[in-house]
Amino acid sequence: MYAEGQAKKLINVYKSPIQVYNEVGEHILHLNNLLGRNISLNFKGVYICKSCNKFYDDLFRMGCCKKCFFESPLAGDSILRPEMSKAHLNIEDRDLEQEKRFQLQPHIVYLADAGKIKVGVTRSEQMHTRWMDQGAARARVIANTENRYQAGLIEVELKNRYSDKTNWKMMLKDELDGRDLEDEAMKSKEFLPQKLKMFFDPKGEECNFYYDMNSKLKNIKSINLISGPEYEGVLCGLRGQYLIFSDGQVLNWRSHEGAIIRWEY
Ligand SMILES: [Zn+2]
Repeated sequence: MYAEGQAKKLINVYKSPIQVYNEVGEHILHLNNLLGRNISLNFKGVYICKSCNKFYDDLFRMGCCKKCFFESPLAGDSILRPEMSKAHLNIEDRDLEQEKRFQLQPHIVYLADAGKIKVGVTRSEQMHTRWMDQGAARARVIANTENRYQAGLIEVELKNRYSDKTNWKMMLKDELDGRDLEDEAMKSKEFLPQKLKMFFDPKGEECNFYYDMNSKLKNIKSINLISGPEYEGVLCGLRGQYLIFSDGQVLNWRSHEGAIIRWEY
């Protein structure tokens, strides 16, 4: 069977183990059902920008063409740097109405263990999705805020203490930090200035995540369909936005976002 379409973020569903779906053109592939099967992937040499939906030979960043990266609210300042949010001041970055909808809603600050404990910010309604997308083994809410800006301020305070990036190799090898997240949450409160302590949540939700993988990875090699447009192998694991193959190679699906890829399975 085959399917062809623009690579979109994998859809992780919070179950044990986590169930992973991939929308490819008109098909939705349930990837857990493809584990153990031979799969071939073929990059067709063109992309679709996720903002303007036009075809390109290349994209700029974050799944966007260059124009959209600098103009679309999908790639605005507050996306990667929540502390740059300005909708609460009624100030527009690119599209005030869209920014208000996105930024002026409950957010959380969390600690997640996906190799090293990291701090992050996301909208409350999508916290499980965010944690699974990062391949976290564990995560805990440490603060609840009314908007994205407040969460961003807390994250900035804690970036001195924790990384804000996931170490993808440690995550895939399941080399975890292991420190107790409740203890870390209590410690992190002490690093917050008085005006931000009110958002701290001593009883924040904590989750564990189990990914569908049947072996532990040792030496990781990464597959890039952009530089070598074909790959064939047996799918043996799914974690975060990564596809893991039985030859020890891994494919960061998110980094292929927008690329037109043909699946044979
Ligand atoms: Zn575009």
